[in-house]
Amino acid sequence: MGIKETFKKACTEVKSTAKKVSDSVKNEYKRNQLQNELDEMYNTLGKIRFLEMAEKTENTEDSEKLFEEISRLLSELEILADRQVKTKACEVCGKELPENIVYCPYCGTEIIEEKADKE
Ligand SMILES: [Zn+2]
Repeated sequence: MGIKETFKKACTEVKSTAKKVSDSVKNEYKRNQLQNELDEMYNTLGKIRFLEMAEKTENTEDSEKLFEEISRLLSELEILADRQVKTKACEVCGKELPENIVYCPYCGTEIIEEKADKE
C-alpha cells in the first residue's frame, strides 16, 4: 500500500473513531440527564405520596401520572444502556476509546487486541 492510501485509511479511521467516541459521550450525558430527572421525580412522588398518606387519600391523579412518567423514563434509560458503546482506555494516553479500534486517535498508539480465549 502506498503512503497516500495508508494516510487516507488512517484519516478515515480517526474520523469514525471520533464519531464513535462522541456518540458514546453524548449517550453518557443523556443517561446522566435522565438519571437526574428520575431522581427528581422520585423525590416529588415521595412528597405527593406522603401528603396522600397524611390526608389518608387514595392515589391521586398526580401520583398516577408521575408513576407512569417514571416507568417511561426507566425504560428509556434501559434502551440507552443497551446502546452504550463499549470502551476501553488507551494504555498510553488513557483516553476512552471504542472497542475494536486499531490506533488511538489521540496519541496514535497501536492498540493491541487482547486475545479472546473464549469462542
Ligand atoms: Zn492514546
